[in-house]
Amino acid sequence: MNLSVKIIIALVLGALTGILLNIFAPELFPEIDKYVLTPVGKIFISLITMLVVPIVFISIALGTAGLGDPKKLGRIGLKTIGYFLVTTSIAIIIGLGLAYLFEPGNAGTFNTADLEYKSEKAPPVSDTLLNIIPTNPIQSFAEANMLQIIVFAIFIGFALTMLGSKVDKVQELLEQGNEIMMYLVNLVMKFAPYGTFALLASAIGQQGFDAIKAMSLYMVVVLLALVVHAIVTYGSSILFIAKRNPIQFFKGFAPAMGVAFSTSSSNATLPVSMNVAQKNLGVPKTISSFVQPLGATINMDGTAIMQGVATIFIAQVYDVQLTWTALLVVVLTAVLASVGTAGVPGVGLIMLAMVLSSVNLPVEGIALIIGIDRLLDMARTAVNITGDAACAVVVAETEERAGRAHA
Ligand code: ASP
Repeated sequence: MNLSVKIIIALVLGALTGILLNIFAPELFPEIDKYVLTPVGKIFISLITMLVVPIVFISIALGTAGLGDPKKLGRIGLKTIGYFLVTTSIAIIIGLGLAYLFEPGNAGTFNTADLEYKSEKAPPVSDTLLNIIPTNPIQSFAEANMLQIIVFAIFIGFALTMLGSKVDKVQELLEQGNEIMMYLVNLVMKFAPYGTFALLASAIGQQGFDAIKAMSLYMVVVLLALVVHAIVTYGSSILFIAKRNPIQFFKGFAPAMGVAFSTSSSNATLPVSMNVAQKNLGVPKTISSFVQPLGATINMDGTAIMQGVATIFIAQVYDVQLTWTALLVVVLTAVLASVGTAGVPGVGLIMLAMVLSSVNLPVEGIALIIGIDRLLDMARTAVNITGDAACAVVVAETEERAGRAHA
């Protein structure tokens, strides 16, 4: 049985187990969760997270060296960032549009009188961007600061190209390091079905069904927007720009989506998503190693969708009319928030505070959605990393075509 099928079965069984425990054994659940589900899930997340920093560093350094020509790096960088910005803007617009269509905030009565939400301080996006050059790379490694690691790795890769045979031992060391990392990803993935099962059963077992009932229309709108964005936006870019079959794309990338779904973390899923894109989608290593780590850090379309829907939902609940200008501000701040959102669970909700404040909506409204956000985080993380992979395929195909035309 192949890995995708195993992971899908694990997700279904995990969801069923969570629901059954929730309904029939709510008193037993905390013990099972504490001694079985949480530890198994945690071991899995730690195993894949353990590989993230070395993989990002080694693969980007090798990728830059492999490209050889700095101009090519610049072109790939521009295409990648262009794709990220355009798709994220489309994502928010889909979210806003569907929220206006279905009006989840007007369905039912929401008690806003005693809502409380202490917004955690999100780092200003300008800081994230200004700090991308590390003053101490060892610290960047220790703190797993992805953007800084990416920048440092690009410098090392550039030096490798320029110094050529003088540093071929280091190049060889990195290449062998890469082999080791890829071997370890494959090894760790053998544990993925158990990890995803445990994570899903735990998340769903903890979920209060009353909260889901009250918020069901909001959830449906977010999920619908995620599906529409994945199929229409990614699907058409794969079909029309990359000229590839979208169904094969989604099928090939499914194992990574399954892992993202269960871990709710783009960062933790990175080793798997790169491996799957290279193996199943045929994305060259050099391109996958740029686009995907960068995307896992700054490209969060699923998160942007949630923020779009949540903003309109909260406006409707508080009976605030947003003007066209306010909507434009929402689109712009949500794009920035998506850049600033770290690829770890739950951060999208923290960044939502920034979007709400930008149009003077009450941040306390977040208290309404916090209860069910764990479930939506799973789905949006799967979309977040699918956007990175779609970009990798588009960049790879267009680069290849350009190369062929040149030859
Ligand atoms: N969990 C998301 C991710 O890792 C970020 C978020 O929306 O909270 O991609």
